[in-house]
Amino acid sequence: MAAFRLPQKCLPFLFTRSQGPLLQARSLNLHEYQSKDLMLNYGVTIQKFQTADTPERAGAAAKELGVPEVVLKAQILAGGRGKGRFSSGLVGGVKVTRDLESIEGLARDMINHRLVTKQTNSNGVEVKKVMVAEALDIARETYLAILMDPATQGPVLVGSPDGGVDIEEIAEKNPERIFKIPVDIMKGITMDQALLMAKNLEFKDGLRDTAATQIMKLYDLFCGVDATQVEINPFGETPDGRVVCFDAKVNFDDTAKYRQKEIFSREDTSEKDEREVEATLHNLNYIGMNGNIGCLVNGAGLAMATMDIIKLHKGEPANFLDVGGAVNESQVLSAFKLLTADPQVRAILVNVFGGIVSCATIASGIIAACKEMELHIPLIVRLEGSNVDKARSLLEDSDLPIIPAKDLSDAAAKAVASLT
Ligand code: GDP
Ligand code: MG
Repeated sequence: MAAFRLPQKCLPFLFTRSQGPLLQARSLNLHEYQSKDLMLNYGVTIQKFQTADTPERAGAAAKELGVPEVVLKAQILAGGRGKGRFSSGLVGGVKVTRDLESIEGLARDMINHRLVTKQTNSNGVEVKKVMVAEALDIARETYLAILMDPATQGPVLVGSPDGGVDIEEIAEKNPERIFKIPVDIMKGITMDQALLMAKNLEFKDGLRDTAATQIMKLYDLFCGVDATQVEINPFGETPDGRVVCFDAKVNFDDTAKYRQKEIFSREDTSEKDEREVEATLHNLNYIGMNGNIGCLVNGAGLAMATMDIIKLHKGEPANFLDVGGAVNESQVLSAFKLLTADPQVRAILVNVFGGIVSCATIASGIIAACKEMELHIPLIVRLEGSNVDKARSLLEDSDLPIIPAKDLSDAAAKAVASLT
């Protein structure tokens, strides 16, 4: 069978810790300035900063900070900004300068321009905001992260004395320079663990205690906000003996949304695939792809098998859409709206195995959706399982131009054939 490579971003669908398998658990990701707002609440040391969404405001902020040197940083959800490149031609999404007059011009080359980094796609991401912060001299850059680790089923401290923009290279070439310390989530982090990590990060003398205290506070933040990841790179040392979190990336556990409502309300969805944002509103597990066959499937495993078999028949799926085991009629309608709103989609393949859900419910949902939307593209339907006979007769009696399929392979073949 043709091996369909599931995009990396599909993986969270398959490995969800707290609600069992096959449920959606994508992490909320905040901007650096939002993460740093949270860090302040936990006493973590950061540089003072302001944010700006116009060049004029950025220029004014640089002066209001009252510091001799500032750092201007593009705010996008991806990392690697320091080595990024803007559509304006400007190179570098992080600029340190003593020339405060230059900030407005630099911000003009950032705001409303697209920034391409090695973590974005080749189109980059439009910058809407910049951070203007007090710049500090950096004597040494280390790397520190706290992650939820599936292997130890709990948090793990990850650190390297060689932090900064080349950390990926260190991980690849000198993996022995990356240190990991698992933390017992029931006991919490101990000062000894924090000190050991500070030692691994090569903080010397009095600074080791300072670094360990920062690590303890970052751990409190990690637990307090239900993070899946807190990554500080660089976790830096200044020549005057301070340990500072120069950068911050915090991801959150979606299953904790109910108790972190305020944090989740800060989400900036403008960088997400619009189709995915819409799907989330209807509780549908959806991932946008580049093909033209829209899929509506129940169950993540069946959804993946459907994508696989479409590829086997030389077609391209437009999406991964798992409507879930207990789907109702109105979700089927929402799913249809989502699929037809996508201009890429030129045929729809419904592949449902009735288990918890009755096929008749799906058939009624399909009929309601077709009537409401006047579908103008081929619709291929394969239903099997609970109440399938009733579902088939509902579809037949509806007089809708539905192409029935007898099995998965037949459905995929018919979907691909319908495009030509
Ligand atoms: P990233 O490239 O998206 O990870 O953005 P960072 O915030 O990590 O900044 C990139 C690099 O810019 C850091 O690794 C530092 O070397 C440098 N940098 C960031 N802030 C400062 C600062 O306040 N002072 C100095 N001297 N360098 C900074
Ligand atoms: Mg960084």
